[in-house]
Amino acid sequence: DPRLKAITEAIRVVPHFPKQGIMFQDITTLLLDHKVFKDTIDIFVDRYKDMGISIVAGVEARGFFFGPSIALAIGSKFVPLRKPRKLPGEVISEKYDLEYGSDCLEMHVGAVKHGDKAIVIDDLVATGGTLSAAITLLERGGAEVVECACIIGLSHFKDDCSVNGKPLYFLVEPR
Ligand code: IMP
Repeated sequence: DPRLKAITEAIRVVPHFPKQGIMFQDITTLLLDHKVFKDTIDIFVDRYKDMGISIVAGVEARGFFFGPSIALAIGSKFVPLRKPRKLPGEVISEKYDLEYGSDCLEMHVGAVKHGDKAIVIDDLVATGGTLSAAITLLERGGAEVVECACIIGLSHFKDDCSVNGKPLYFLVEPR
């Protein structure tokens, strides 16, 4: 797909952010190129439009840049999966381990129902810990998770393209 080369090139790499040694993949530059931004959304829309997806769940914060556009185009709802203490209503929480310490995602009770078919979207998958927690949250809410989708995936996922037992789809590798 010739669009993938332009997507890769539109991602800026910021060395040593947020700390020494990390090559941060910055997708905000992709959002500034209308054609590349639209191509990115279109690829996901083409993939998910006829799969009976009722929920697009986006991971805070960069999953929010892509998820709502995909949801509107495929006729599904959008559900934000947020960092702790951001959602005002009753929530279910899922803690997960990071390299140093832990983090947590929350979802509103009632946001998904039994019978919902969901995809999860984020910008990048590294260890898969974040997506794993997202999958567990959605399943605890009663939804079936069909697939996880990212813009960028680390190459070690190429052989086993799954996370927490669910298929993982990503467009490009880090630059
Ligand atoms: P994982 O949980 O180890 O798979 O890390 C993925 C999470 O970390 C996602 O929510 C990403 O947004 C974030 N993340 C890690 N590294 C980067 C990066 O280089 N660019 C953008 N997001 C990143």
